[in-house]
Amino acid sequence: MNNQVKKYNNFISQIIDEDFMENKNLSFYTRFPPEPNGYLHIGHAKSICLNFELANLYKGKCNLRFDDTNPIKENIKYIDAIQYDINWLGYKWHNHVYYSSQYFPVLYKYAKELIKKGLAYVDELTKEQIREYRGTLNTPGKNSPYRNRTIQENLELFQQMKNGNFSEGKACLRAKINMRSSFIIMRDPVLYRIIFSEHHQTKKKWCIYPMYDFAHCLSDSIEGITHSLCTLEFQDNKCLYNWILQNTNVTHFPKQYEFSRLNLEFSVLSKRKIKTLIDKNIIKGWNDPRISTLSGLRRKGYTPYSIKKFCEKIGVTKQNTLIEFSMLEHCIRKELNKTAIRTMAVLDPIKIFLYNLDEKHEEKFIVPNHPNNPELGSHEILFTNVIYIERTDFKEKYDNKYKRLKIGEEIRLRYAYIIKAEKIEKDEYDNIINIICYCNMQTLGKKPKNKKNPSVIHWISIKNAFPAEFRLYNQLFNIKNPEQEKNFLSYINPNSLIIKKGFIEKIIWKQIQEEMNINNKKIFFQFERIGYFSLDYIDSKKDQLVFNRTVNLRDSWACKK
Ligand code: ATP
Ligand code: MG
Repeated sequence: MNNQVKKYNNFISQIIDEDFMENKNLSFYTRFPPEPNGYLHIGHAKSICLNFELANLYKGKCNLRFDDTNPIKENIKYIDAIQYDINWLGYKWHNHVYYSSQYFPVLYKYAKELIKKGLAYVDELTKEQIREYRGTLNTPGKNSPYRNRTIQENLELFQQMKNGNFSEGKACLRAKINMRSSFIIMRDPVLYRIIFSEHHQTKKKWCIYPMYDFAHCLSDSIEGITHSLCTLEFQDNKCLYNWILQNTNVTHFPKQYEFSRLNLEFSVLSKRKIKTLIDKNIIKGWNDPRISTLSGLRRKGYTPYSIKKFCEKIGVTKQNTLIEFSMLEHCIRKELNKTAIRTMAVLDPIKIFLYNLDEKHEEKFIVPNHPNNPELGSHEILFTNVIYIERTDFKEKYDNKYKRLKIGEEIRLRYAYIIKAEKIEKDEYDNIINIICYCNMQTLGKKPKNKKNPSVIHWISIKNAFPAEFRLYNQLFNIKNPEQEKNFLSYINPNSLIIKKGFIEKIIWKQIQEEMNINNKKIFFQFERIGYFSLDYIDSKKDQLVFNRTVNLRDSWACKK
């Protein structure tokens, strides 16, 4: 078994294996059918990976088909963004992009075929009446008074619907199945409704639009899809899927299989809910790094590889579970641990004044870019008499557990000397502005005699510091499963974004300038002791760099396992 086979060994691949045993010449064919009414999220990535990986594995094809049957909610900008995201993940759809809307003429013919067979009728009940007549799980539905119209009458009325002679909501086409079916979906489902909005593809050509259930199975059939994979909530729709195929003159019969959708801790994945977060200004758009859209994750510093690795790890089953967020973080951390350049940054600076050094003192150290990958090279840092350290690395008042810099104690500066804090200087508001330290010039690379090793802190010389903004992200919600809550907006974490203004090493700034000029390439950093960061390519300007914290250093998921 090669690696790829192992990777996608799940209940669906077992079904496919059996299908291949029955038919060696099966031309395996899947599709990914997004509705262009929002951006893709990590849940879609699960479906994308499944459909495209299986197509690769079984030497088949995978179509990208926009399920564009509702012009009110759709927008061309989503079509572009979705294609961008799929390409970014590294998948290539077969042939060209497909649209359900390109089948509108054929779908219309199939609808007329159902009418001619006495299997569809034009209904004039209102939306509310249709709902009321449908019944519930415990009570059967009842027939619409329009159900027994003649075929001729239905054909004429459907034509009138198409010609725009009815206004919205005044008529619809329904399948004539069984109002007493135990599957509510089979109680004369609506197949076509009237919408007068202009469509992004077909413009003003149509004012009747097929429902998802009608368009989906027929589009699958027209394209020759063999395995139509969807999420569990479509389980009941399968009877309708098959009913439509059986009752229309199609020659190809795809099969629908369901798997559980991805639910991710601390995230809402429903596009409607994400839209609400944007409309209420809680987040700044579809690519806000605090949400799990692919564009948000990308901006936060996630790579295609880490997302695909995550999808592989979670697997594909029929059980609905809530996946730990730390598992997603584990995937990106594992990758960045290998690839990110190590450098120092001070996010919340405080000044250290080394009083025994001359103000002209300048020493250069060459430091590795990665602790155990020499191929990533090295860079130069500068040591001078005034440096920045992290405000949290010094304490005036402390308890026994506190191990970093304090008055009268020593600490080692990463890659440099041991220093001892002697006094502090404060401003008129009692804020510390300077820590006056002694720098022991005998300690470069040496262990202190007769003493335990002091802790190590990071620093940047003020002559080597370039200002930068750092955006630290925390979970957007303060409960694990906001998706389940009706009033999910009451669980917003007010500290989901913390902004710090500090410094990076100048050389990193220079490197970024060069890289930005080349190809907008993303570079990833580990700011030592702080976390993994990547450049925010949207808000950064040449001289005003913004970094997003991709993930912190600690791996709680790996520790647990
Ligand atoms: P949303 O609830 O986010 O609006 P949707 O199902 O309406 O999602 P579509 O654009 O219709 O979004 O989805 C395209 C494909 O992605 C469908 O096959 C759908 O089943 C799948 N998909 C959507 N969300 C998830 C998820 N959370 N996990 C796995 N697959 C998903
Ligand atoms: Mg949908």
